[in-house]
Amino acid sequence: MTLADPFGRKVTGLRIAITARCNLRCLYCHHEGEDPAPSGRREISADEIVKVICAGASLGIRRVKLTGGEPLMRRDLETILARLPEGLEVSLTTNGTHLAGRAVALAGAGLDRVNVSLDSLRPQAYRRITGGTEEDLKRAVAGIDGALEAGLLPVKVNMVVLKENEGEVWDLIDFARDRGAILQLIELLERPGLGIGGDIAGIEAALEEGADEIVTRDMHRRRKYFLSGGEVEVVRPMDNTEFCAHCNRLRVTSDGKLKPCLLRNDNLVDLAGADGEEMKRRIEEAVGLRSPYFCGGDEKER
Ligand code: SAM
Repeated sequence: MTLADPFGRKVTGLRIAITARCNLRCLYCHHEGEDPAPSGRREISADEIVKVICAGASLGIRRVKLTGGEPLMRRDLETILARLPEGLEVSLTTNGTHLAGRAVALAGAGLDRVNVSLDSLRPQAYRRITGGTEEDLKRAVAGIDGALEAGLLPVKVNMVVLKENEGEVWDLIDFARDRGAILQLIELLERPGLGIGGDIAGIEAALEEGADEIVTRDMHRRRKYFLSGGEVEVVRPMDNTEFCAHCNRLRVTSDGKLKPCLLRNDNLVDLAGADGEEMKRRIEEAVGLRSPYFCGGDEKER
């Protein structure tokens, strides 16, 4: 079976923030659409993560993405992975600083692939953007290499395009290509008044010109550019009706609530205490609350 929302959009993916804790402080972070964690907020338990994934799998969920916060802050991640049902594609998005030493164990526990955030290769810019040290930057690069060696493929390098780092896009394309990784360029979801977003439209136009081949993915209608052996994927959610029309995921917050849309917090469904059939019912309820945020109308009305 496949879940579908009232707009006919199939739901085949779960994106779960398994913690709000993080060792970096990215200046643009959207905290996966959650209010930045007040101290003392509860953290979703390992049992809840396993239960929601099992219930989702029986309803036709095929892909699970674990995120955060920084998911590697959880020491029980490998044991959670080992409890997940067969047949799902399970991936992780991480800042990579604690990945190198765990990549083999994560792969052994059933993780299929990783996205590693890396917004700059220059220590000073990396520090300004993420708050991380030069050592953190080295560890993130080692994390990417460790993931490639452990077979967590394809490894995607996530770069949020900012004014601060837009001049480095071509260096990052080379960096990813030389390792056999995919570069994912992400449009900044910007807080009003911040003004730090880079010119992703200009970069995409340059990619279009230089590409040997361009492919459009079904998911979110993301475009992929192939250039001299390198692969670059562009993620542009802002004011993008196509992005919402092709959104096929349901989110789970770090404090255990089903979240129908990244950009809304007024329609969450608590999963506390749910199991088996009741967990399925709550997933179906949350799917029933999904509606495209960017739908061509006045989004601010919502
Ligand atoms: N700590 C992990 C990491 O660094 O990948 C997981 C959490 S992070 C919120 C997940 C992804 O969201 C990262 O690739 C990050 O770059 C992206 N992200 C965070 N804030 C964003 C924003 N305001 N606009 C676009 N992407 C953002």
